[in-house]
Amino acid sequence: MISLYTNKTEYIADIADELRLFLAKEEITEAENAAADVCVTLEGSGTERHARAQVNTEKGMAVYEWDCVIPQGADALEIKRREKRAVKIAAFRAMANVYGFMPPWGSLTGIRPTRLLRELRMRYGEAEAIRMMQQDFDVSEEKLALAKTINAVQQPILDSQTEKDADIYIGIPFCASRCLYCSFASQVRTKKTDMAAYLAALKKDITLGSAILKQAGRKIRAMYIGGGTPTVLTADELDGLIAHALEAYAGFDGEFTVEAGRPDTITKEKLGVLKKYGVSRLSVNPQTMNDATLELIGRSHKSADIIAAFAMARDMDFDNINMDVIAGLPGEHAADMEHTLD
Ligand code: SF4
Repeated sequence: MISLYTNKTEYIADIADELRLFLAKEEITEAENAAADVCVTLEGSGTERHARAQVNTEKGMAVYEWDCVIPQGADALEIKRREKRAVKIAAFRAMANVYGFMPPWGSLTGIRPTRLLRELRMRYGEAEAIRMMQQDFDVSEEKLALAKTINAVQQPILDSQTEKDADIYIGIPFCASRCLYCSFASQVRTKKTDMAAYLAALKKDITLGSAILKQAGRKIRAMYIGGGTPTVLTADELDGLIAHALEAYAGFDGEFTVEAGRPDTITKEKLGVLKKYGVSRLSVNPQTMNDATLELIGRSHKSADIIAAFAMARDMDFDNINMDVIAGLPGEHAADMEHTLD
């Protein structure tokens, strides 16, 4: 168990994600004072911030400090982005010093590296974007080359968008259990979860969002209900949510995806609801087809459940089913990936 203290509690989940890059399954607990295994602080005001991370575990001790500048006139979102980046980098480098290795994607967590690279290029230009990826975020040369290649493949698709196009994402930040590697904003649905309150707020948000997009004359190209795990909702809850979304975006006829990520949350009844509302694409995500890995990463299902869920969806005429797999899960090697792909 590793205890973590920070004076910026709004960033504690992001700092914990950095620690997890080095800790595998070790539990991280929040400490109430600086005498913790890991202590990350952020000081400063105005245009200057100073992040300091101290790691002191049985593996060793290290301190890393990182200064960042807040541009004059930066809005709240930009300030948050820069502060978060500073505490993450300080924590990552102190951990790397103690644990003696650099993960190939460096300190990047919770964001697609390709998206970050594209945004940095747009904001700062090519040379600065590459410098930041390598020198600030510690992304390896090999991974940076991979991100560049993916950006080049994606660019024509992004260029095909017009300013009036919009895609709708509806988030269900609840899951059946928590995966070891997860860095998404999601929590386990329990008996105490007030799903009715969440869905009421979400429907209000959908109504308001659709009015804004309508006023702006946007054309909705695609709708995606993701998570979390949307199929953690009951069939009735799914029915109410989708009916509401389609009413708010009346006339929508683009690609409609629902992430049915966990096979243990998929039922015939729920698939029937998705079919009724014209969902055209499903996502059923195995991540791996190795049962031992599924157990290790905290997924509460077996590979056989994935096959059964896929077959059920095919039987109900879903002909566009995406399946995510993850390379490099704990303990897996090339042979495990071959088995998954077979
Ligand atoms: S299913 Fe996805 S969102 Fe849910 S815990 Fe696993 S990785 Fe996170």
